[in-house]
Amino acid sequence: MKDNNSAKKELFGTNGVRGIIGKEMNPELVMKIGSALGTMIPGKIAVGRDTRTSGEALSAAMRAGLLASGCDVIDLGILPTPALQYLVREHYDGGAMITASHNPPEYNGVKVIESDGTEMGDERTIQLESRIFSGDVTIADWKSVGRLTDENHRIEEYIKAIVSQFPEKICRGLTVVVDPGSGPAAVTTPEILRRMGCQVHTINGRFDGSFPGRMPEPTPEGLALLSETVRATGAAFGVAHDGDADRAVFVDEKGVFISENVTFAMLAESVCRKNRGLVVTPVSTSDVIKELAARCGCDTIYTQVGSIYVARTMRKYIEDGHSVAFGGEGNGGLIFPKHQFCRDGGMTAAAMAELVFTSDKTISSLADEIPSYTMVKEKVYSNNTDEILSKVRSLCSDLQLDETDGIHIRWSDAWALVRPSGTEPFIRIYAESKNPKRAEDIREFLVSNL
Ligand code: MG
Repeated sequence: MKDNNSAKKELFGTNGVRGIIGKEMNPELVMKIGSALGTMIPGKIAVGRDTRTSGEALSAAMRAGLLASGCDVIDLGILPTPALQYLVREHYDGGAMITASHNPPEYNGVKVIESDGTEMGDERTIQLESRIFSGDVTIADWKSVGRLTDENHRIEEYIKAIVSQFPEKICRGLTVVVDPGSGPAAVTTPEILRRMGCQVHTINGRFDGSFPGRMPEPTPEGLALLSETVRATGAAFGVAHDGDADRAVFVDEKGVFISENVTFAMLAESVCRKNRGLVVTPVSTSDVIKELAARCGCDTIYTQVGSIYVARTMRKYIEDGHSVAFGGEGNGGLIFPKHQFCRDGGMTAAAMAELVFTSDKTISSLADEIPSYTMVKEKVYSNNTDEILSKVRSLCSDLQLDETDGIHIRWSDAWALVRPSGTEPFIRIYAESKNPKRAEDIREFLVSNL
């Protein structure tokens, strides 16, 4: 499913606006986004933020822009992006999350949330941008400026919503280590797991925008302390979040990092076994998802790269009368449609705890049961990405091509994706096969011919 408007967005990328504070990102820009958003969605708008040092300044700017446009603003304080999304869907007309997700501490940004809890789609984002650029915004008079309310306590509703997805105390006695990376999940994921019956140890569990323990991107290298703590406590696994906790990654009981495609596959299989339906994922996702979904009798639907396309495609299929079981991306961002239509790191941690506890196996043996695929990636710099795409079309004209996003090429035993970056002058090449040499050969074949 392709949304042809994506190329026209200028300020917003696939997951909101992001930039370095003092360079591309500043309170003036965020206040403009606030007044444009308040003009587009007059009503009650919730504002939240992650733990970055610039968060309070940008959140104040967002609130100012919204209030001046006449919106009532609900300040939700520091909370995970999926918690804001959940609360917007339950109570408000829209939301704005001040976050730069996994980016380093000098970055910050804004994700805009619609009343149904999903991130704003391309068409509406383009309308929002045009108001930001033209200054076509409402400035309310003294009688109509908005009111500010603090509803930080509502984070409890999000915690309860996740816990209620599982039988009571389903994981009684399971030991888990949580690494929220000094981010907002410090007040959600440990509590969720505790209420499910887990014994929880938390590291990097204090809000801190200087990220003293590790950077907001949960890379295997950054998770050394998590691995060590898992081994020291004899925990069943460790879970870590990115800076706004819409993603979750895992280390096994030996402290070894589990690839995000493997955890996606483990949870996809677990969800699909209980609840048949479509699995929705971007064209860049490993074939392991398709293979495991098929084992459970489920078909896989492919979208453009970006969680927003996955979430919106899931909703569309449901509206069209299909049953949709699961969605996600190969970066640890997973969508559980029975809970909500956005990536949710807290929900992912909870689902993994349930899977490990009820399987009666170790998480490493569950991961070992997932078929092994090798994916290789390469970046090719070019100012003429259109030319490269035409070359791919002629080079692979006898193969099965799909242009949902870039060009996806399928062989009987492998696939590749040649995809221009939306914002920078390069092309990403992905090649995957069960046979590592085959994946490498395809990567080389593409790189040498482009
Ligand atoms: Mg994120």
